[in-house]
Amino acid sequence: MLGRMDYLSTRGHTPPTPLHAALNAGLAPDGGLYVPQRLPAFAAPAGLDRDLPSVAQALLAPFFEGSTLQAALPEIARDALAIPIRRQPLPSGVEVLELFHGPTAAFKDFAARFLAACMARLRTAEAAALTTVLVATSGDTGAAVAAAFHRRPGFRVVVLYPHGRVSPRQAHHLGAFGDNVKAVAVDGNFDDCQALVKAAFADPELRAICPLASANSISLGRLLPQISYYAWLALERRHAGLPAPELVIPSGNLGNGLAAILAREMGLPIAGITLATNANPTLAEFFAGADYRGRPSIATLANAMDVGAPSNFERLAHLLPAQALRARLRCVAVDDAAIRARIVAVEQDLQYTVCPHTACAFEVAERLQLDPARTVLVATAHPAKFPEVVEPLIGRAVPVPEALAPWLQRPSSALAMAANADALRQVLRTD
Ligand SMILES: *Cc1c(COP(=O)(O)O)cnc(C)c1O
Repeated sequence: MLGRMDYLSTRGHTPPTPLHAALNAGLAPDGGLYVPQRLPAFAAPAGLDRDLPSVAQALLAPFFEGSTLQAALPEIARDALAIPIRRQPLPSGVEVLELFHGPTAAFKDFAARFLAACMARLRTAEAAALTTVLVATSGDTGAAVAAAFHRRPGFRVVVLYPHGRVSPRQAHHLGAFGDNVKAVAVDGNFDDCQALVKAAFADPELRAICPLASANSISLGRLLPQISYYAWLALERRHAGLPAPELVIPSGNLGNGLAAILAREMGLPIAGITLATNANPTLAEFFAGADYRGRPSIATLANAMDVGAPSNFERLAHLLPAQALRARLRCVAVDDAAIRARIVAVEQDLQYTVCPHTACAFEVAERLQLDPARTVLVATAHPAKFPEVVEPLIGRAVPVPEALAPWLQRPSSALAMAANADALRQVLRTD
């Protein structure tokens, strides 16, 4: 044992902080992102059970060392990560890592449930007021966070989404939870929603009467659990005598991609990592040699990856210098026309249906002519979440997975809200 693990800020002006404090804070006080002070090497102990919660427990133990959450890690991993995860071989020889068998049918369930399990255990018994988990969503985050905190004592969730700019099915899902989840349809775009959330967190008066917690993609509580499914995959493939995977990962804010990079840096057998983005060019330009330049996002068919300034880039840049990053990772951008064509081709050639995000990974593997026997494409959401895009292309309805169906049959309601801070303050003050 190497002793307590502290977390440092990417900006270098925050003292070493234990995990529980970093989780509660979200963002570091200097405005940076928390990163572990060292990256522990991982060697699977002999006799390790190969299910995801067991792998997560062993892998994440050093990250919890010295935290008040340390003793609870086994329980957190079992509660949060008992989500089916599937390696799906396709006729072409490639394997798909299906991360969409959780309660909201997107990979964000792993992270959101783990974060909720940590936060529930951090909530002190004497805390009187409800903690409000405030999130802005353009895609799958809102539903995953809502599902993870739904009916959890001591918490409520307020989800802001841009009215008319998430798919009708996504909007229905967000409004169907009820109980301690409030869906708010904001008269504005996603950037407005995000700005409102930021302003609320920066408002001490509001926070005094309404304790806020963050669940956005920069939270350590979301990043850490995502490392564990890549470890699981790498160990499973090694156990099966298969080559170390060449991963292709649909990417937006870079949380999922960063987790894979951390898994490899920790010593897990991962041969290569390629990020697949949509037409938002920030990452592809950087990996092609340009300086990093964040910018406003553009709307694409893969809307959960509509990111112009990936929030986890700061962690990546902190981990390795630019040249080293370019040497170890690749990134290819895929436009909407190619997404459409790839959804059709995968359906016809492989009898497999992909969501627009997963389609980017398939397209990139094709363009790079990756060896199918080594390639693992990461499937980030179930195609039934995006029927407006997928169904006209494949010419049939996509069956809705069992986890999703009950929500879509429930009534749904959202609060309409103007895109201004006063309106949000009003919403947060009422229960
Ligand atoms: C969030 C999301 C992504 C992007 O993941 P990042 O961690 O932000 O890179 C990709 N696909 C789907 C379906 C998502 O919901």
